[in-house]
Amino acid sequence: MGIAIKVGILTAPKIEFEQLEHTFLLKNVRIGIGFHWDRHEDQEFQGELEIRTNPDGTQTAINTLDLEDYLCSVISSEMNANSPMELLKAHAVISRSWAMRAMEHPNHEGFHVCADDHCQRYEGLLRMNERAVQAVRETAGQVLINGERLAVSGEREICDCRYYKCCGGRSEIWRTCWEDIDVPYIQSVECPYCGRVSAQTLRLVLNDYDQETKDFHDWKVTYTDDELDGIVNARYPGIGHITALEPLHRGASGRIDSLRITGTNRSEIIGKELNIRYALSKKCLYSSWFEVSHANSLWTLTGHGWGHGAGLCQIGAAQMATEGYSYEQILSHYYVGTRIGIAAK
Ligand SMILES: [Zn+2]
Ligand SMILES: [Zn+2]
Repeated sequence: MGIAIKVGILTAPKIEFEQLEHTFLLKNVRIGIGFHWDRHEDQEFQGELEIRTNPDGTQTAINTLDLEDYLCSVISSEMNANSPMELLKAHAVISRSWAMRAMEHPNHEGFHVCADDHCQRYEGLLRMNERAVQAVRETAGQVLINGERLAVSGEREICDCRYYKCCGGRSEIWRTCWEDIDVPYIQSVECPYCGRVSAQTLRLVLNDYDQETKDFHDWKVTYTDDELDGIVNARYPGIGHITALEPLHRGASGRIDSLRITGTNRSEIIGKELNIRYALSKKCLYSSWFEVSHANSLWTLTGHGWGHGAGLCQIGAAQMATEGYSYEQILSHYYVGTRIGIAAK
């Protein structure tokens, strides 16, 4: 094994597994946790399996395997096999960069990354496809390096390559979504590409369950007063009947990162973008880039994009690849001032 990564996989309600000759099967793996595509599936994995019982009685399966093999599954899980090769290669580089950073600074206790959208989708072997494997092999060891840091101090910092489904026309900066810092390679860049993607390209790049999502570039959500009261009071009990939704601050793309929700009993100021998406949906809004209107007892949110918007726009990158751009060009468009380097083993 080269570099080994530990992946935590959540199953529900408890872990059931079956050892096969060279692999193992986990039953009822939960994917899309908390998102609108939340569901259970059986999945097959390679590498080592360890089962941990958590203090709250739930169990986590921890799968240890080679980083490059992990990436083959991630690229197969995140992207359809029929995607253009340059898109798959771009994704291999960013998923590798992201994973190597996560190994240095894990977001989880006891393992480096989880198998779900919270980290990167890792759905084992069942969706594994040869073209994703080819993309990982042809970019073996390649990571994105922060160009500004390299110029200033000579340090080779691996980029924290965030990505999402669709920017909606303009990408977002770091501080709208996470900490109040400037990340030089996460700038707000114009993306004309996701807006002109064809239905045919979408069918090539999205996995089946992502194709259930329609109108993600420009979308509209409508609630009656009662519906919105129900949604918001479920998250913020006792706030009362909702009388106003006021965006207090927007990021560089237009995504709201501070929203005041006023109810008849009190008001709440909510941020950043993901909390806003949870606050105004039974599951999660496509994005926090929306305008609010209220008329005739109906709330209408008119929005753009699918995801946080910081870093690479997957659908825009797919369109760039279809238009003949190389994976290096795709990466330098969405991650400003970066260069490709080889990760130290
Ligand atoms: Zn995670
Ligand atoms: Zn885009």
